[in-house]
Amino acid sequence: MTYFYLTLLIFSFLFGICIGSFLNVCIYRIPNKIKVYDGYSFCPACHNRLKAYDLIPIISYLVLNRKCRYCGCKISPVYPIVELSAGLLFAFTFYLYGLYLNTLIVWVLISVLIVASFMDINSLEIPDGVSLWIAVLGVISFFIPGLLWWEHILGIFAASLPLFIILLLTKGGAMGMGDIKFMAAAGLLLGYKLILLSLFSSAIFGSIIGIFLIAFKKKGRKDPIPFVPMLSLGILFSLFFGNSIINWYISLL
Ligand SMILES: [Zn+2]
Repeated sequence: MTYFYLTLLIFSFLFGICIGSFLNVCIYRIPNKIKVYDGYSFCPACHNRLKAYDLIPIISYLVLNRKCRYCGCKISPVYPIVELSAGLLFAFTFYLYGLYLNTLIVWVLISVLIVASFMDINSLEIPDGVSLWIAVLGVISFFIPGLLWWEHILGIFAASLPLFIILLLTKGGAMGMGDIKFMAAAGLLLGYKLILLSLFSSAIFGSIIGIFLIAFKKKGRKDPIPFVPMLSLGILFSLFFGNSIINWYISLL
C-alpha cells in the first residue's frame, strides 16, 4: 500500500464522518419539513443555536459528555453512530474500489441508505425521493465499463416482484409499496444476482436482529418492523461481498 493510497483511505474515512454529520441533519430535518441547507444548527430540545466547536463530528459528542451545553438534555447516540458508520463504510468502499466511478456511486448509495434507514426507524415511512435517488445511481452505473445492462434491467423485478406478490397475498401486511419501489430501484443498481442475494441476506439479518430485540424486550412480537434498515444491510453486504459469495457458490456446483 503506497502512502498516496493510505492518505486517500484516511481522507475517505474523515470525509465519510463529515458527510455523516450532514446525514444527521437530513434525518432530523426532512421529515420535519425544515430546509436541509438553510440556517444554523440548533439543539432539537431547547432550539439554542449551536456553535462551530459543538458541531465537530463524534468529538463534540464525547467532549460534551453526551449532553447539550445549554439545556443539558441527552444528545441521541444516533448522531455519533451515523457519523462513525458513514466514515467506516466510506473508507471500506474506497478500499474495495479505489479511484473509480464505483466508489462515488457507492458513497452516495451509503448516504441515501443511512438516511432512509433512520427515517424508517423513526416513522416507518420513507419518501419516494429515496428510491428516486437510488434509481438515478442505477442509471449512472450504466457508464461503468463492462456492465451487463440486461442483468440490471432484470434486477428491477428480481426482488420487487416477489415482494409485490407477497404484499398482494397478505393484503397489505407488514410491507408497504415504499419497500417495493425501494427494492426495484436497488435492483436496477445492483443487477438481478446481487439484489436476490440482498433479499436473502436481509431476511437473515432481519431474523437475527428481530430475535435480539424481542429477547431484550425492546420490541414485542407484534410491533411493526421497519424493513428499510434490514434491506439496506442486505444491499450493502451483497454489494461488498456478493460477487465473492456467488463465485464461491458456483465453484461448489
Ligand atoms: Zn439543548
